[in-house]
Amino acid sequence: MNDICFPPQNALLSAEQALSRISQTIQPLSGVEIVDLRRALGRTLAEDVFAAIDMPPQRNSAMDGYAFAAAGLSGAADFRLRMVGTAWAGKPFNGTLGLGECIRIFTGAVVPDSADSVVAQEQTRAEAEQISFFAPCLFQKNIRPAGSDFKADELLLRMPKKLTPRDIGLLAAAGIAAVKVRRRVRIGFFSTGDELAPLGAELDVGQIYDSNRYLLAAMLDDPNFEVHDLGTVKDDPLALEATLIGAAANHDALVSTGGASVGDADYVKQVLEKCGQVNFWKLAIKPGKPLAFGKIGDCWYFGLPGNPVAVLVTYHKFVKPGLDCLLGALPRPPLQLRVRSDSQLRKVPGRSEYQRGILKQGENGELTVAAAGPQDSHQLKVASMANCFIVLDADCDGVSRGDWVLVEPFTLDL
Ligand code: AMP
Ligand code: MG
Repeated sequence: MNDICFPPQNALLSAEQALSRISQTIQPLSGVEIVDLRRALGRTLAEDVFAAIDMPPQRNSAMDGYAFAAAGLSGAADFRLRMVGTAWAGKPFNGTLGLGECIRIFTGAVVPDSADSVVAQEQTRAEAEQISFFAPCLFQKNIRPAGSDFKADELLLRMPKKLTPRDIGLLAAAGIAAVKVRRRVRIGFFSTGDELAPLGAELDVGQIYDSNRYLLAAMLDDPNFEVHDLGTVKDDPLALEATLIGAAANHDALVSTGGASVGDADYVKQVLEKCGQVNFWKLAIKPGKPLAFGKIGDCWYFGLPGNPVAVLVTYHKFVKPGLDCLLGALPRPPLQLRVRSDSQLRKVPGRSEYQRGILKQGENGELTVAAAGPQDSHQLKVASMANCFIVLDADCDGVSRGDWVLVEPFTLDL
């Protein structure tokens, strides 16, 4: 069944084409919730947030020192004033400063209206109430104006931002105790394959542990997602169909691994065709060529390949951006760095590749990348050693040592 959102399926799509199909097809889910600030980290804002107050609310001192009015002083670095009181953070000085007078003031204390300058205590000497100043008195120096962080009615955060620790601090500074965020995306995931054994079991000949389910669970660990592990499904079209139809009814998205290719035990595409709609299922990328994307009822479905490294690549390149679309966040291109390759990299033209690399920073700060090891799509240990993808274009026919390449770091902690 094809409609305008589901163009012909059999073409081998480029990564860019696949991503643009995903982002053009998937519409944001409706549904928001109000969460306490303490539970809001990482959640996706569902509305713009404005400040209700100036911050700081009043002008205050940036230093421990002395505050006074500069008027009447020559601006020279040598003068004496009489201390007539103290302004503490949280305990303002309520008097009025006259000519020749100053107050002791501490960082964060309100600067009284009758003062317009603060000199740091390191640049003064106190003898009882007599304070000698050795620094020139600079008008407005060491004073943080009211609203110098943000002003009332100012836009603080724009939706659909995912809240960082810095955002949480900012919201707290503005006195905002709860925020409106997108509801969590309900995601079910499962693996397929007769060879898969659960962790803890003795392996029979031909069996392997079901690592994809753990890899997927770890990648899906995100405060925006409510994730359900639907287990391991046999290579049986009826079992697959029952799982897809049953799970589609109460999830926003389903992700499976395995059975997406063209082998005799690969049923994902034919079952999806039967019980839903296939948007695409073959990509010109390596690893990750068989990737079925479509819909069952209202539920989006990503049928990933079985090879673990292909799961890693296709999750990052397609599933995560698709889930971001459900959250109403337009997928943004990942950070790409142009660095020199320390390794020779083998590649045949045809498909774009996401090789696993180790990005390193040298003593002079220069970044280089090396292959993390051999690049077969079952090699999880190499993927575990890697900290980036080395992105090679479809027509690239290999990389020599010293060539420039593009890398996408998994994290900025190298
Ligand atoms: P498939 O896409 O089902 O043909 O699987 C491709 C390769 O990935 C085969 O070597 C599978 O044994 C392996 N594989 C499939 N599913 C998993 C899984 N859940 N965990 C680890 N390896 C898997
Ligand atoms: Mg299989």
